[in-house]
Order: sequence, then C-alpha cells, then structure tokens
Amino acid sequence: MTQLLFHEDPYLLDFDARVLARLKHEGRPAVVLDRTASYAESGGQPWDLGTLAGVPVIAVVEAAGEIVHVLAGPLATDSVHGRVNSERRRDHRQQHHGQHLLSRAFVETAGAITVSFHLGAQTSSIDLDREPDAAQVAAAERRANEVVWQARPVSVRVVTRREAEALGVRPPDDAGDSVRLVEAEGYDLQPCGGTHPRSTAEVGVVLVLGHERYKRGARVRFVCGHRGLDAFRSRAATLDELSRLLSAPIENVGDATQRLLDQAAANQRRNRDLLERALDGEARRLLAAESERPPLILACYDGWPVEELRGLALRLVSLERCVALLATRQTGKAHLVFAQSEGLSHDVPGLLCEAAATLGGRGGGKGPLAQGGGERVERVGEALAHAAARIRADPARTS
Ligand SMILES: [Zn+2]
Repeated sequence: MTQLLFHEDPYLLDFDARVLARLKHEGRPAVVLDRTASYAESGGQPWDLGTLAGVPVIAVVEAAGEIVHVLAGPLATDSVHGRVNSERRRDHRQQHHGQHLLSRAFVETAGAITVSFHLGAQTSSIDLDREPDAAQVAAAERRANEVVWQARPVSVRVVTRREAEALGVRPPDDAGDSVRLVEAEGYDLQPCGGTHPRSTAEVGVVLVLGHERYKRGARVRFVCGHRGLDAFRSRAATLDELSRLLSAPIENVGDATQRLLDQAAANQRRNRDLLERALDGEARRLLAAESERPPLILACYDGWPVEELRGLALRLVSLERCVALLATRQTGKAHLVFAQSEGLSHDVPGLLCEAAATLGGRGGGKGPLAQGGGERVERVGEALAHAAARIRADPARTS
C-alpha cells in the first residue's frame, strides 16, 4: 500500500520514495511507490503531473487497488526523488474546493444536490439533480464567493462511518469504515479524497459561465481562481474586438448587433425582391429576342448559382409556351437546367442526361424540368447546341 502524502499535506510538492513494484500500464513503464505526493485521478479530479528521478510522470491512476505512476521513460533507480507540478496542483485545489463551495450554495439557494463533478482542462462542471432558475444560479454564485472572501479555514479529518453519519454526512457506499471529511468551517462538510486549500480564500473567485438543462436536472459550467481571470480576459478581448468592429462602446454592443441583424434581414428581403424582378426581366428579354415559335431559348451564364438558373427556367416556361436550355459555368464545373412548358412533350430528362454526359457528368429530372452537370466546362456550347438540334428535329416540336 502506498502512503498518500497529499492527504496529509496538499501543499507538499517534493518527496522521497522507494519503488515497490515495476509494471507496464497501457504499454508504458510504470511504478508503484511506498509513498507519494502525486494525486491519482479520482472523484472528478484529474491526476497530478511531475517527475520521478527526473523522468516525467504522464499519469497517476488507481489500478487494482494500487497508485500507479505512469512514466514517459524507464526509471534507473529504486530510490527516487519525486516532484509534483505546483501550478497544476494549485489549479486543482482552486477548482475542486470551489466546486465544494458552489455545490453547497446550490443546496442553499435551490435545494439542488450535486450528482457529479467534472474538472476539465478549461472549465469544470457540476450536474445538479434539479434545474435552478437564473436567479438561483446568480444567488448560488454570490453565496459561494461570499464564503471565499470570508477566508474560512478548511480542515480535513478522518472519522468512522458512524461518526460521519452522526454529523449528517452520507459517505459513499464504497468508502469503507474510514471516511475522510473535508470541512469549510461552519459552511460545508463533505466526504472527499481530493486536494483542498487551507482556506476558502485560496479559491479566489467562483465564476459561473453558464447552465443548461441536463438529464432531469442541470449542468452548471464554472471556473475558479486563476481560471476566472483567464475567462474574463478572453471574454473581454472578444468584446473589445466586437466593440471595435461595430464602432460601439462595449455596453452598446448588443443593441448595435441587433441593428445590424435587422438591417441584414431587411437587405435579404430586398435582395430576394430584386432578384425576382431581375429574373423576370431576363426571361422577358430572352423570349422577346427569339423569333421561332414556340421559342427555343439557349443561354449560358457565368457564375450564376444553380437556384437562380432554375428560377429563370421556371419563369421562362410559365411566361410563354417554350423550351429553355440553360447553363451556368463556374470554376471547374458547369450546370445545366432544361425545362419545357406544360403541353410540350419533348424528352427533357433524356436530353439533359445526354448533355450532362457530354460534360463528363450526370443529371436527371422528372416531367418538365431536369438538371445536372459535369466538369468539362469547355463543352457547354456543344452540349446545348446538340440538345437544341434534337428538339428542332423532334416531331413533337410543333404539336
Ligand atoms: Zn471533493
């Protein structure tokens, strides 16, 4: 069994130990020590990083009842000096203790129990058994910060299960008869094996980033301590950038964005209207320029979106009894839309397939409208001319 030095002193970063066992963990060298200051991943708190005799520790996990230090390379000696990464340890103390305070605050403000905790690389989250409203979330955040600023002492003690229950704590079923309790004086008492600070003040700040419905309750995302500063800085940078782009002071960014969105929606409506009119004008121009009756319209446009080509084709065949063979050329790709008015009986899908094949592609359709395309852009003229010749030769043309 490894002696867990971090339980006695969560600030201990240097320690000496002996190797009790050497093993492989997922293909990497690993050791079990007689004592360690490195926390093994558990209860939502990630493992510590650090070194053993200068060899990087890449993970610390519990496996088969042992604390296993997974190493980046082999260890030369059995007598090792261990170091724990201090920034990561402080970060975990801040996030984990902040979680205790926030979870207690949700019990007070919303009667919501924390059912799970996840300490992530950027943000942490707790899952609550019921969904608090926005006011309860704000009240919980305020309450947790009050307790931080009161700098209440944090203590750890080990009691029996019966003693824990007498204190109103319900230890987890797998805790055994010896229960480790973490207490923020006069505020919160929890069974916990994690690393905690000496004072609630070390948490610095508890910042709720958001909450959403999750399962039957809610998931609350938050950061504590130095991560609160980072979160503020990155959000402030985003807001500053928006403020600059919108030429509006930060407090007016919301209104300025809404105005822009309203303007964009109005422009979009206007654009749709103008497009309808332009397609109508183009259709009338094409029909007027054609002397054959019924008109056979051939036209090719560069850079037109396919929807607009289809819009033009549908307009042509509804304005007058005609056949429309239209194409649009884009970089490396040509599209075809063939259409005929009601009452005409050319094999439009068949003609389209043939024309698309000339372009090295495919197409199809049903009834009066067919579309397709291919990549041989240089053969568009040939494909249209061939389809037009087939229509002129079709006895159905004048029927
Ligand atoms: Zn805890």
